[in-house]
Amino acid sequence: MTDVAVGGGHDVLVAAVDWGGTWIRAAAVSGGRIVRKDRRAKPPGLAEQYATVADLVLRTTAQLAQAPAAVGVGLAGVVQEGIVGTALNLGFTDGTDVAAALRPHLPLPVHLLNDAQATALGVAARWPHGTTAVLTMGTGIGGAVIRDGSLDPGLGGAGDFGHVVIDVDGPRCPCGGTGCLERLVSGRGLADAANALAGDGSSPVLAARAGSGRVLHAGDLQDAAGSGDQRAADVLDRAALALSAGLRTIVATHDPHRIVLAGAALAPDTWFGRAVRTHWDRTRPRWARTELHHVPEDEDAALRGAASYALDKLAAGRPGS
Ligand SMILES: [Zn+2]
Repeated sequence: MTDVAVGGGHDVLVAAVDWGGTWIRAAAVSGGRIVRKDRRAKPPGLAEQYATVADLVLRTTAQLAQAPAAVGVGLAGVVQEGIVGTALNLGFTDGTDVAAALRPHLPLPVHLLNDAQATALGVAARWPHGTTAVLTMGTGIGGAVIRDGSLDPGLGGAGDFGHVVIDVDGPRCPCGGTGCLERLVSGRGLADAANALAGDGSSPVLAARAGSGRVLHAGDLQDAAGSGDQRAADVLDRAALALSAGLRTIVATHDPHRIVLAGAALAPDTWFGRAVRTHWDRTRPRWARTELHHVPEDEDAALRGAASYALDKLAAGRPGS
């Protein structure tokens, strides 16, 4: 259950799906609130995933006062005009029409969006007016641009801030670029850095943690920096500078009313979160009036956002696929 209203408080019942690499979650959403939800581990095969999505939607919306009017589906992949481009974690090939594939299982209009866009719509619901750019940091980096409460996806990928180029001489990115923000700053990248510092012994704190055979995560880097480990602090400070450069690009392209940072690693009380704010205050464009906010972890945000997207499509008279 949540107290954050979505989509202007519509009372229409819609279903929402958060289709991730590990879990498939579904919810019934009415009046902007989750009234019932369920989840299952993602099965490996695509046919089983389609069946799981449909079954979860039908179960979470069964025996409610009204039938769902549509389904909003946020999934871990590139979505353009309802067609999934690439979704390596889920096993889709390029150009998959997921709504059409779901149709035999699920007799409802389906509206697809990227999972980071769904999360961004969910967390941005508390700012219904103006332009909000949301940057999500988890294993990778994603985000979205939201205007007056509605997603502005461009042709599909607007707000995919993980692929803002920070260093043209940097590491190659699967997207075809070099030095993308996601390659320099992400949970995966910081975890790799932590394990490298432990492996070559340059960080005694991290070497001790890895000594028990544990694979280190970004949080270990934060802990080490907080305990005074200089090498860990240097890596995080460099990453914070890169992220701050990414924020400048967001301001230059969108000049939003606010940028919302989502993800535990970016919390203001973490070493990294403080470093990001310090660099932002130093390097932000002098004319920038964009506010910087943080929202805490909220695993239901993607469900609320997917529901909001379906409601927007209904309001716009889009029948879905
Ligand atoms: Zn990239």
